[in-house]
Amino acid sequence: MAVVGDDRTSTRVELRGVSRSFGGLRAVSDLNFSIEAGEFFSILGPSGCGKTTTLRLIAGLERPDRGAIVIGDDVVAGGQCWVSPERRAVGIVFQDYALFPHLTVAQNVGFGLKGWPRQAMRLRVAELLALVGLERLDARYPHELSGGQCQRVALARSLAPAPRVMLLDEPFSNLDADLREELRTETRRILKERGTTTILVTHEQEEAFALSDRVGVLDRGCLQQVGTPPEVYHRPATRFVADFVGKADFVPGVVAGQGVAAAIGTFPLTGPGWEAGQPVEVMIRPDDVDFTVDPDGPASISGVRFLGASVLYELTLPGGLKIHSLKSSTRTLAPGTRVRMNIDAAHVIVFPRERACNE
Ligand code: ATP
Repeated sequence: MAVVGDDRTSTRVELRGVSRSFGGLRAVSDLNFSIEAGEFFSILGPSGCGKTTTLRLIAGLERPDRGAIVIGDDVVAGGQCWVSPERRAVGIVFQDYALFPHLTVAQNVGFGLKGWPRQAMRLRVAELLALVGLERLDARYPHELSGGQCQRVALARSLAPAPRVMLLDEPFSNLDADLREELRTETRRILKERGTTTILVTHEQEEAFALSDRVGVLDRGCLQQVGTPPEVYHRPATRFVADFVGKADFVPGVVAGQGVAAAIGTFPLTGPGWEAGQPVEVMIRPDDVDFTVDPDGPASISGVRFLGASVLYELTLPGGLKIHSLKSSTRTLAPGTRVRMNIDAAHVIVFPRERACNE
């Protein structure tokens, strides 16, 4: 297997039934998904759900207990197969940059190019430094750089040997908001231009949505859903995804006929397999809840959160049920205002009470 490939060669990655435990703890459980060549894919989930373990398995820093990992045409882990990390042609950027403090910027970027002819290495390093906008800082040492500049060097260093796959482990989380925004947009542009298959690990939904072609959501080592950002947001496959991705209210109800009877109205059911009388929860996103001011309305505004362009209202209904509504901030209403609520029923999603896949 070639270690250094052409920059523009992109590669598919596939996980087939991959599990990994530490002692008695299942860090990841029966992971099955694939990332298409040239795709920007995010693994999204809360702390401890197995994101880093998944990246480390793909990189070859961990061995799966079960299952197989395929990169391009090569089975790199599984059964009798094992390809060492340095032969997988995978680049990694970690949260803490991990630059070599005693090497200059240029030497850091050239680190993975051992064995290259001197002139070719020099050209390659210059090309990468220009790509990340650091061509004038080649002689500096890491302690003479800002956090954002260090992260650019780390990116350039990982890109230098032309990896088939780039793995990004929360690489932007130590940066301040403005720099984070700039650097992540730029990182996506660079990787997309090169056609590098990229897997980003993050616990931030906004980051995953802003950067990714598709997102895989993990909970306690189990893959809950893979989809485009709009699919994951609007059609969450599980109660966990609905709750973790964006804000949502969950209203208890019961399956009745073709719909769900809940305290705040009747909603359509999605998909087959429901039983009459089955207890369910109806997920309602605040952007699907509208209301009008009505002195005789049954609900009242009990909370107002100004978010800039929009305002998130908490509405309290008779019986104490609380529902959130997102509205433009051109006019902000005061707590205590009586209102009449209107829910876009076409967008609600119904969930049964569910059990975790590793319970
Ligand atoms: P975070 O966002 O906090 O970095 P994560 O989603 O990346 O979390 P992992 O680091 O993959 O989660 O860890 C998943 C689980 O496996 C955690 O419970 C963690 O404590 C455990 N774990 C990971 N690596 C090891 C290890 N080498 N030995 C023992 N337990 C481990």
